[in-house]
Amino acid sequence: MKHYDLLLIGAGHAHLGVLRRWALVERPPGRIALLSAGPVAWYSGMLPGLLAGRHRPEDCQVELQALCRAAKVELLISPVESLSAAQQQVQLADGQTLNASWLSLNVGAQIATPEQHGDAMHLLAVKPFDKFLTGWQQWQAMPEPMAILGGGAAGVELALALALAGKVPQLALFCAGHLLDGLSAGVRLRALGHLRQRGVWVREDCPISRIEDDCLFSGDEPVWRGQRLLLASGAKAFAWPAHSGLGCDENGFVLIAPTLQSYTHPTIFAVGDCASLPGARKSGVYSVRQGPVLANNLNAALRGLALKRYRPQRQSLALLATGDGGALLDWHGHSAGGRLFGRWKDFLDKGFIQRHRL
Ligand SMILES: Cc1cc2nc3c(=O)[nH]c(=O)nc-3n(C[C@H](O)[C@H](O)[C@H](O)COP(=O)(O)OP(=O)(O)OC[C@H]3O[C@@H](n4cnc5c(N)ncnc54)[C@H](O)[C@@H]3O)c2cc1C
Repeated sequence: MKHYDLLLIGAGHAHLGVLRRWALVERPPGRIALLSAGPVAWYSGMLPGLLAGRHRPEDCQVELQALCRAAKVELLISPVESLSAAQQQVQLADGQTLNASWLSLNVGAQIATPEQHGDAMHLLAVKPFDKFLTGWQQWQAMPEPMAILGGGAAGVELALALALAGKVPQLALFCAGHLLDGLSAGVRLRALGHLRQRGVWVREDCPISRIEDDCLFSGDEPVWRGQRLLLASGAKAFAWPAHSGLGCDENGFVLIAPTLQSYTHPTIFAVGDCASLPGARKSGVYSVRQGPVLANNLNAALRGLALKRYRPQRQSLALLATGDGGALLDWHGHSAGGRLFGRWKDFLDKGFIQRHRL
């Protein structure tokens, strides 16, 4: 069995930041590898722009081999299938078993799927992105009416992008609560205005409880009939971290301390959507901000130094692409919209990709 001093599991936003920092500044000592499901890391913030035809796939990806080479970190491409927290052992899909003195998890989350009876409705989850894009290409070849599940930032951006590109004859958007819950009332109204202008049928306060054949049900009420459902609903934890013996919250996300270490297994760190820490939201922005603290703490752990504490920011800037080159802004309860914000979003998104192309 191969032994490592540190295994980085998953090429999430925070690990990209860690690798960048180690490529530019000194990396910690020892044998280190990144375990990734694929050779590239997709940047979710640019996915709606890709679907709207504003970006190419290669604009929205970070190539991991170059980044790992620059950080002097081995890259192993194979999804992790299971983890034993007690033995610090990882089982890969290609059959390898690895162990490590320190581990760090940044694997994101999957998309929640409602209960389905019958197979008349085809489901396409927005994650993982490569699988989604392959499925989307097939759907695009024969456009049909479609519903999107999820009225958060991802669902709204996707609906706006697809409605504008005219790639779906009829589009419905379902959300369990209010559209863009957690953001300001102003940005919700602006988003509703754009969606209505583009002919998207929006149903708020309509949690989808099950799918029966070609019908979506909210409670016992049939609310939509069709054959295509795009899933952009909330983050659902992967099963394997909870099965690993790591302490998790009631939803299966790894419970971490402010040092980003697992509460139950301090030699294992977890960050981003797969982790649970009061005040840290499930969004790329929070994962990116954890990157510098994680880079510092992994270095400190390997050298036996003191660790830093991460404090989630109280507010974060939200910029939602409207698909036409514009964006909606939400900041401290204020909202605004227009092309200027779209250019700002493009600048930030492209900056993220550029920073990790070493
Ligand atoms: C369409 C869309 C648009 C979004 N736009 C924004 C936005 O503009 N701003 C924002 O802040 N958030 C946005 N989000 C939310 C954002 O994508 C997530 O919150 C964010 O990606 C979480 O980052 P992360 O670092 O936890 O992991 P991720 O960025 O999700 O990365 C996880 C990585 O782990 C890998 N992985 C998964 N399982 C395994 C395994 N078993 N073995 C090895 N590797 C594995 C994955 O392939 C992936 O590379 C958007 C989401 C969607 C769907």
